[in-house]
Amino acid sequence: MDAGDGMLPCCVAGGGPAGLMLGYLLARAGVRVTVLEKHDDFLRDFRGDTIHPSTLTVLQDVGLLEAFLALPHQEIAELSGDVYGQPVTIADFRHLPAPRPFLVLIPQWDFLDFLAREAQRFPGFTLRMGTRASGVIEEGGRIVGVQVESREGRSELRAGLVVAADGRHSTLAPDAGLERVDTGAPIDVLWFRLPRDAAHDPARTGGTIRPGALLVTLNRDTYWQCAFVIPKGALEQVRQEGIAAFRERVARTTDFLADSVDALRGWDDVKLLNVQISHLRRWWREGLLCIGDAAHPMSPVGGVGINLAIQDAVAAANLLAEPLRQGSLRAEHLEAVQRRREWPARVTQRVQVAVQNEVLSPVLARSSAPARTPLAVTLLQRLPTLRRLPARLVGIGVRPERVRSGRAAS
Ligand SMILES: Cc1cc2nc3c(=O)[nH]c(=O)nc-3n(C[C@H](O)[C@H](O)[C@H](O)COP(=O)(O)OP(=O)(O)OC[C@H]3O[C@@H](n4cnc5c(N)ncnc54)[C@H](O)[C@@H]3O)c2cc1C
Repeated sequence: MDAGDGMLPCCVAGGGPAGLMLGYLLARAGVRVTVLEKHDDFLRDFRGDTIHPSTLTVLQDVGLLEAFLALPHQEIAELSGDVYGQPVTIADFRHLPAPRPFLVLIPQWDFLDFLAREAQRFPGFTLRMGTRASGVIEEGGRIVGVQVESREGRSELRAGLVVAADGRHSTLAPDAGLERVDTGAPIDVLWFRLPRDAAHDPARTGGTIRPGALLVTLNRDTYWQCAFVIPKGALEQVRQEGIAAFRERVARTTDFLADSVDALRGWDDVKLLNVQISHLRRWWREGLLCIGDAAHPMSPVGGVGINLAIQDAVAAANLLAEPLRQGSLRAEHLEAVQRRREWPARVTQRVQVAVQNEVLSPVLARSSAPARTPLAVTLLQRLPTLRRLPARLVGIGVRPERVRSGRAAS
């Protein structure tokens, strides 16, 4: 049951980074909020494990940074690469204007568990796991709640505001009639893990580029989290060539993986990320707001999806906590959230499109190494200050948010 009397001010559908952070911030500001998460726990397939300096700053704003950093994690100060045999530092986070200038690698479920635990300290916060929002309830032209499915059966949850934070495959946004604009993407990504030999393997987190191949390797201490980029829709062809041929391609691309590729026993060990970039033309209707991937699914380029989702949640809490508490929420407040966050999301997506089209697609199309070292590699090698630009884009992004929604007196 929800705490308090009267109509629930806010229901958030989706307990991912966006939904849980928004639930946390609203409850902290004294707003009653119920978060619905369709899964029974947060322990799912790999969905990205990077927490960036912008999110660490948000955690510091709410006094959670030290507790978060007490969880087992890794700290990454730079991203490095091997481009046709040339070593290069791509991004150096050490100079970022942030309290902790590094990326944190932590399993996403640990991060979500942490947020849920902290949110539950506030009396107004309710988390209903194993509970799916199966559709919106519309009355008189506005959204007034969601239909809910759980083990207990079907019911309705009515709320002054429904926030759709239900991710890149959002069903609530189309159910509410919000139009999606698809930008498309020329790549897909194959994700898999390989064991890491701490004594012999390099320590770096980064990527390797070879003619026709690009492999990202995240150092997770005991294993490598790998992302192999393929042309859009090429999975069937890769599968037809067989798992042995794929192992051989991985080993040829990144030689330190040659001894561990045998751990890939079959295609069940390899997960496809169908890359899509899109955005909602309008993020809201009366009674409903979409944030995070539900509003703007991102490409994995730069690994910024979690952090943009968090930034949306912070902006939404900054703009909505007070009107929700006062019961004075109007359409202009929802429109203000889109106005604040649409530009950063679209700029980031444009950079991702440029990287996909100008860097990744040409690499995948090459059959031999270029005769000369690419100019970007030479510049990054010679001018260390240049490495601060990608670090800033990845680590902080455009228009970073600070928490302004207050903390209710307890
Ligand atoms: C393989 C992969 C690797 C990635 N790597 C990175 C990375 O390294 N760094 C990074 O920053 N980003 C990464 N991303 C992107 C990142 O995961 C997303 O951008 C981010 O999680 C978006 O957060 P969100 O809260 O908007 O949505 P999600 O994380 O998708 O959360 C949505 C939540 O809503 C729940 N849900 C869905 N529908 C309903 C419903 N109807 N009712 C109730 N609950 C519902 C889902 O179970 C889920 O928990 C990766 C994504 C994938 C798929």
